[in-house]
Amino acid sequence: MGTLFLVSTPIGNLKDITIRAIEVLQMVDSIACEDTRRTAILLRSIQKDTVLQAKLISYYEENEDKRIPEIITALKNGLSLALVSDAGTPTISDPGFRLVRECVKEGIKVEPIPGPSAVIAALSASGLPTDRFLFLGYLPRKKGNRKKILKLTQKATGELSATVVFYEAPHRLVETLTYVMEIFGDIEIVLARELTKIHEEIKRGRISLVIERFRKTAPKGEFVILFHV
Ligand code: SAM
Repeated sequence: MGTLFLVSTPIGNLKDITIRAIEVLQMVDSIACEDTRRTAILLRSIQKDTVLQAKLISYYEENEDKRIPEIITALKNGLSLALVSDAGTPTISDPGFRLVRECVKEGIKVEPIPGPSAVIAALSASGLPTDRFLFLGYLPRKKGNRKKILKLTQKATGELSATVVFYEAPHRLVETLTYVMEIFGDIEIVLARELTKIHEEIKRGRISLVIERFRKTAPKGEFVILFHV
């Protein structure tokens, strides 16, 4: 039986790849990745392009059903495989959980190769309590469901004090922050933007002020939102 390695990759700065991640990517028979072009850029940055690009296979949400049985067969035949996402830790708000579940079911070894993840990077630098946090991933796209999750979170955190963390796309940011303010009041929030990249920014302040700023200048880049309740 082969092993499935879950290899974390940088969330911006390409130097954040670990030595172990490089070793595993070199050693495995295939690398399943969300976007072969993006992973090829990473491989070029570690100067392993010629050897490694031949091993790349695509693995994304829409082709999971087709890929999972192929990968399970390969693993059962003794081949080893690394799963990487476009950025950060695979399976965290990224595809892969279904493949891991199938490996567990089939008794195939799954080994994490830890490294960057936006949720942990943002939390660690937020200045908010980190002893207990509630990660909501991406909130639902539908406005009603987004509000519902926030209301349920308020209910849960009413009894259980925690730091709430979630991912949000720039075009939904103002709308989501408005809902957070509606439900939690004009609380202090932390916005971690473009972590490890040139325009990295960790902004702290009352939601109303943050919304005001983004009404003037449209938000750009990748964001993690955090607050403590
Ligand atoms: N698997 C990834 C991880 O472990 O962080 C998360 C993938 S999810 C599809 C992408 C979201 O993560 C972005 O929309 C953003 O909310 C957050 N994110 C990723 N990179 C980021 C960065 N450099 N700075 C801030 N947030 C980031």
